[in-house]
Amino acid sequence: MAYLIISDIHANADALLTVLEDARKCGNIEKILCLGDITGYAAEPGACIAIARESDWVCIKGNHDMAVSGEMDARQFNDDAAGAAAWQRRHISLSDRQWLKHLPRTLEVGDFTLAHGSPRDPVWEYVTEPRQAAGSFAHFRTRFCLVGHTHCPVYFVARGRGAEGRLFKPGQPLKLEGRMLINPGSVGQPRDGDPRASYAIYDSEAKSVRIHRISYDIEVTQNRMVELGLPMRLVTRLGHGV
Ligand code: ZN
Repeated sequence: MAYLIISDIHANADALLTVLEDARKCGNIEKILCLGDITGYAAEPGACIAIARESDWVCIKGNHDMAVSGEMDARQFNDDAAGAAAWQRRHISLSDRQWLKHLPRTLEVGDFTLAHGSPRDPVWEYVTEPRQAAGSFAHFRTRFCLVGHTHCPVYFVARGRGAEGRLFKPGQPLKLEGRMLINPGSVGQPRDGDPRASYAIYDSEAKSVRIHRISYDIEVTQNRMVELGLPMRLVTRLGHGV
């Protein structure tokens, strides 16, 4: 049995469809866990939400989802992100805005807690350093916590009162141990210098997580964004994975 773990799709339907197709090759996906930010940045929020709703994802909200649904003022974002959120808000249905609004901020699924930023602050905290991870472990009850938000595939292991952080090596299974914080990277806007879509597969029998990277047609996504007048900085960063 396997769980597909995805985060930070950011309205990039080309990347999402490529990930879903690639993940099917990994065998029987029992659940799809999404760690938020289905929307924001790119051109196809409605298509991405439709896929999530149709396939019954286990899904929490991210900060961009809150801005696009109208639950949060997008002026807290930088200009490009705020512009994209406002554009998306106008281009999705009322029903989709309501659906985003009603997503939970955190969820527990078996051994996992799901939180977009961190279990301590699911909306805004970025867990990039062991120090932040160490401060998070008291804020969830399960053994493992799945987070997104930084767009970098990385994991942290609790060690005493501290934590050790490691970058994932794509393709290599990570055996889960002790208590961990795990980030599967971003489907739609990776920021670790590798522009390929990132996702994770959890193997419930082996108790391991494996990161996968897959190329998609970035130019198609970029052209669509240009045609719709989305900010150029958001278009070019997709090609660089930053
Ligand atoms: Zn994000």
